[in-house]
Amino acid sequence: MWAASLVLLHAGSALGGDARDEVHHRLRIALEPEAGRITVVDRLSLPVAWGTRLRFQLASTLEVEAEGAALDSPLLARDGVKTYGLTLPRPGAAVVLRYAGPIRAGARHAEHGMPEAALGPEGSYLDGASAWLPRFGQALASFEMEVTGLPDGWEAVSQGRRGGVAGGVHWTEPAPQDDVYLVAGPFHRYADAAGRVDAEVYLREADEALARRYLDAVRRYLDLYETLLGPYPYAKFAVVENRWETGYGMPSFTLLGSRVLRLPFILDSSLPHELLHNWWGNGVLVDARDGNWSEGLTAYLADYLLQEARGRGAEYRRGALQRYESFAAEQRDAPLRAFRARHDDASQAIGYGKALMLFHALRRELGDAAFLDGLRAFAAGRMHRSATFGDLLADLGRASGRDLGPERAQWLERAGAPELRIAKVATSPVGDGRHRLDLTLAQTQAEAPFRIAVPVAITLRGRPQADLHTVRFEGGREATLAVEFDAEPLRIDVDPAFDTFRRLAPGEVPPSLGTAAGAARQVLVVPGGADAAAWQAFAAQWARRYGNVEVVRDRDLKALPSTGAVWVLGWDNRFADQAAQRLAADALDPPAGKAAPAGRSLRREADAVVLVAPDAEPMPLAFVGAEGEAVIAALARKLPHYGRYGRLAFDLRSGENTWKDERPGNGSALTRVLVAGDVARAGLPPEPVLAPPVGAASTPPIVP
Ligand SMILES: [Zn+2]
Repeated sequence: MWAASLVLLHAGSALGGDARDEVHHRLRIALEPEAGRITVVDRLSLPVAWGTRLRFQLASTLEVEAEGAALDSPLLARDGVKTYGLTLPRPGAAVVLRYAGPIRAGARHAEHGMPEAALGPEGSYLDGASAWLPRFGQALASFEMEVTGLPDGWEAVSQGRRGGVAGGVHWTEPAPQDDVYLVAGPFHRYADAAGRVDAEVYLREADEALARRYLDAVRRYLDLYETLLGPYPYAKFAVVENRWETGYGMPSFTLLGSRVLRLPFILDSSLPHELLHNWWGNGVLVDARDGNWSEGLTAYLADYLLQEARGRGAEYRRGALQRYESFAAEQRDAPLRAFRARHDDASQAIGYGKALMLFHALRRELGDAAFLDGLRAFAAGRMHRSATFGDLLADLGRASGRDLGPERAQWLERAGAPELRIAKVATSPVGDGRHRLDLTLAQTQAEAPFRIAVPVAITLRGRPQADLHTVRFEGGREATLAVEFDAEPLRIDVDPAFDTFRRLAPGEVPPSLGTAAGAARQVLVVPGGADAAAWQAFAAQWARRYGNVEVVRDRDLKALPSTGAVWVLGWDNRFADQAAQRLAADALDPPAGKAAPAGRSLRREADAVVLVAPDAEPMPLAFVGAEGEAVIAALARKLPHYGRYGRLAFDLRSGENTWKDERPGNGSALTRVLVAGDVARAGLPPEPVLAPPVGAASTPPIVP
């Protein structure tokens, strides 16, 4: 379960701005890890258009001198950074900056504890956050760097292509970069130079077999993405082990924590995601003026695509809609143009989940060939430059000969999601054994209607496979479908494979932690007693995570509320017996400290128990039985990752999940049986796949 809470961010920054100038650095770097110092000679090639009076920023701990230009005293010092003025004898003159000093560690990351910068006997990590390299406004940087002074057995890693120099390592990256990285440490280096692009692995302990698995996986995914998207834009891709448990993707390398690196499914989940960021985010750079498009596109073409190849596309899309329902629906939503980076579940549900559903809808509308042509044109035309979401839609539109202006307005500028309802459905025989179906779908959300294409599956008598049709909303609240069949329609299922970005309909997904969290409000009823403080902390964390939470003490409540979702917390909660009435099918017995869901025997002394009531009337209800501060804290952290489940058990001592179960559905409001009796839905035609399965060494969990 730890995996689902893993932080997988990429470190590429999302800057706005127009076409950006470029500075070339020729760097000679001496690292002194024992002393925590760096000495740099930086030979700069500056744009002539900048004239003779420039400014740059550099870490305030570094002493700097200029050669070939006059250096003013620093103008400002803030956040550990000084701004210097530089006067050149003529525009574009050759300038050498020499600087040296210690590097400040800066703030530590709240989750994995990695500092902003590291330079010491254990290794080094330097990027723009420490201002170790002179930065000229928003200008991009290309570079050649020579790193010397490395202790025996150390390697240094940066972007681009590696070369050797006497007593050190050389890296060259001719393409303009947002940031320049320098990672060094006691690494065992493994390389496979078989293709046009080098694959490399840097491990802190020798492990040939692990390195081989990564080298092979890098090769497989390079082949996959070059086939889909065109040439990989760097000379190498390296997997670099980190002392902190990160999952960062940088240009031409990924920085994975020691533990992360050894999780078997990372090879077929984070690795392709971070590799793909070299096209999206670290290749085509993000101009985030109308939203950061790179996470949704990367999630769609990596995390999603790999599940689709394994026949789990619909399941993944359902998960994305469920997360939207849990974390972002009901006034917690935002338009895609507001997304910059993931900072909580809501921003993830939008910037990754909603965005990838948009890409899925575009692919269905444009067709796989035009969709890929558009992506290839976007990569080829904008590589190593900044591009907006609008630029991406423009390239997709051009490839398909369509104007995607309406899509842009609808998803980038607007919040909200369509809510669908079957408004009317009728069938009638029309002679010759033929039947006519008339279907009207309506959008019932308060906001204006969305222009969407909604697939509908029609189950016909005697046919094993459903007939798929599309209902198109062209701007109105209602859209209709009229079709004739040569067999009797028995049942219709609206968007049965979750292809449309929309709110989930009542009964469409079974009652679960996610549906409870997605109610307009959640009321957490906390008990008194020995664990009162632990439950208060649980509730506080829940409230921070979800934007729709009220917390009440059981003794302050006369009766359970009848609207919103209710969470009864603790075996000794005064409302535990009322929860038990709703959970009679699971034999919940709070006084006895027992439950028996699906015939399992769960006991208060050994298990933490989470049960969501099997029906949502009069209001969704969930019971959490646990005791002990540690396990209650663990549940607060873990439960949001189990959104699709309705029944769960955890080991009371370790906090590990021991059982999880999805309740059966109650019948979706988007399904209609047209004849008397029960009719099962006929099978859906197989989905097209953008790429065949790759790897399959392990099946990664679905974490949309
Ligand atoms: Zn990413």
